[in-house]
Amino acid sequence: MINYTAHVRRLMSDIVLRVPRLSFLDMNRILVFARAGRADREGPYATCHCVCLPSSEPGYYFWRDQTTGALTRRSEWFVTKSPIVRVGSNQIDYMVSFTLPRFCDQRRVSARKRARYPGHPVWMAKLDTIIHELYHIDPHQPGIRRIERADGTLSTKCHSPAFFQDVVEMVTQYLTSSPDPEILEFLHYDFAGLTARYGGVVATTFRGASYPRRYVEAVVPPADASIPDCPVEPLDLPRAVTHFGDGDLVTRRFFAEPRRTVARRKVRAA
Ligand SMILES: [Zn+2]
Repeated sequence: MINYTAHVRRLMSDIVLRVPRLSFLDMNRILVFARAGRADREGPYATCHCVCLPSSEPGYYFWRDQTTGALTRRSEWFVTKSPIVRVGSNQIDYMVSFTLPRFCDQRRVSARKRARYPGHPVWMAKLDTIIHELYHIDPHQPGIRRIERADGTLSTKCHSPAFFQDVVEMVTQYLTSSPDPEILEFLHYDFAGLTARYGGVVATTFRGASYPRRYVEAVVPPADASIPDCPVEPLDLPRAVTHFGDGDLVTRRFFAEPRRTVARRKVRAA
């Protein structure tokens, strides 16, 4: 079987060696994992997740009287935090998830994406996605890369025409650096093609349905906080997993169609 996330990781490691704009990335602090997602459903092919943002400033939700503007109630004080993710001896700062089999198939490669690579094979769209997700990592501060508007102010968006064009340039730069074709070969196949060639697709994924996400934690008010005099609503917080480690990761097989029962035991990858 082919271990898809291991192949993506090997490709990413080669990309950061050959593309100077991504050379600041430390692959030891980036986790690649897979999530299940059908090719015939809407959804992302891949996502970049930041797990190194510092805790937010303490705050609370509040409700106002529409007429008087006075606070009528507020929530407990809380902060939002990133979970701690460790793999082996490495603390993880970013995770890039790939949706399988959707990422492998990319049946609906957009006209815009095709136009970026005229005359090139369809699998280039997958390389574009991989570099796109790495480019989301901010080189200067923890978090997702901020997009500057033409006037120099920061946009609330994560993408811009310049972002997409930068990715095209990095894809071209990587391919013209004469990478080993064997490192890229797995991108040539859709999910059925991979299954036919390798007998199946396995990938690193999180045990169960949850994966590391930012969570809310109730806190005592800061000593210098001004505390409004109004009723307090307790926060109704789901139980958050705050630490993830090797024991939360498994290698399991992915299938073209969803299965009722998910194989969670470790699968040996060839
Ligand atoms: Zn993006």
